[in-house]
Amino acid sequence: MQSRFGVSECAKVLPYVPGEQPQDKAYIKLNTNESPYPPSPKAIAAVTEQQIRDLRLYSDPESKILREAIAQACGVGIGQVVVGNGSDEVLACLFRAFCGAERPLFFPDVTYGFYKVLADLFRIPYRQIAVKDDFGIDVKDYAGCKGTVVLANPNAQTGRGLALSDIEALVAQDRDRIVIVDEAYVDFGGQSALPLVAQYDNLVVVRTFSKSRSLAGARVGFCIAQPLVAADVMAIKDSINPYNINRLSMLAAAASIADTDYFEQTRNAVIRTREQTAQALLALGFDVIPSQANFLLVRPPRITAKAFYLALKDRGVLVRYFSDPRIADRVRVSIGSEQEMQVFLNQTKALLEEEGQ
Ligand SMILES: *Cc1c(COP(=O)(O)O)cnc(C)c1O
Repeated sequence: MQSRFGVSECAKVLPYVPGEQPQDKAYIKLNTNESPYPPSPKAIAAVTEQQIRDLRLYSDPESKILREAIAQACGVGIGQVVVGNGSDEVLACLFRAFCGAERPLFFPDVTYGFYKVLADLFRIPYRQIAVKDDFGIDVKDYAGCKGTVVLANPNAQTGRGLALSDIEALVAQDRDRIVIVDEAYVDFGGQSALPLVAQYDNLVVVRTFSKSRSLAGARVGFCIAQPLVAADVMAIKDSINPYNINRLSMLAAAASIADTDYFEQTRNAVIRTREQTAQALLALGFDVIPSQANFLLVRPPRITAKAFYLALKDRGVLVRYFSDPRIADRVRVSIGSEQEMQVFLNQTKALLEEEGQ
């Protein structure tokens, strides 16, 4: 319910519901796709006591250190990089810049819930395109969609990825339409669309430090596009929050993206653990969607997804349950450390055995 001062255009905005972060006891947290590993030691070392003292000063509104580090890592010019307070802020700037009455928004019916929230908030007309029964996306379904398209690749909630050739077909379908590819999970086995940016001015690639860089709490994301398109996004960012990246996160993220060895080590560990977990769940009778992300969307045998989620929570393991009809028979399990996944599997086995009696 709104207060009596709330404006009517906000009355119907349903805010994004983040995964629970309960403080009542120590859970094994497999519900918000965080990394089980700490940030790069270089990111930790970058945040010195002097940097904390320097918090009296504003941060660099151009985020030069960070944008240079990203540009170098991605092989693009600094003018092609826009950074945000999490990729959620980047998405907000992109939607503000490239969507509206004259450019409606199109996205899959199973995907990141924040797209719909942002569209409602900005009063952007939108249409959701149904994913296939196997949760795959057929880019041909977007052929007549005039406006702006946003896709997560690999897709949120399902973990299914599209090949680079499919993304290129989507981008080439209509050169007068912006395609935003949200690559939050691409480092866990997806194919990045970055190599296409040089060729297509209607492509924007969005990335985050929250998942594969273990910096969810630092709130840093970015997008890459051709310079004119990036400048449009920058103009929105400068109109909303010019100092959007704080001093500490700026340095931690810049050091993190330069540390390739640590990145490779931790993302490969997540991929390995995901495959082991998928095998173990299949053996227990789960339906498992093949994932290229740091989570698995699975359907438990003999028990509803909601009951499974609640029983696991009782046993100290948090997974994510979504009530959206298309995935309400499944839970999403983030990939934790090997030990955490062992606990998850042991508890799962125990509660399914109880169920069978
Ligand atoms: C986690 C996630 C984000 C948000 O990431 P932040 O950078 O933490 O704001 C964006 N898109 C998708 C698909 C995600 O899963």
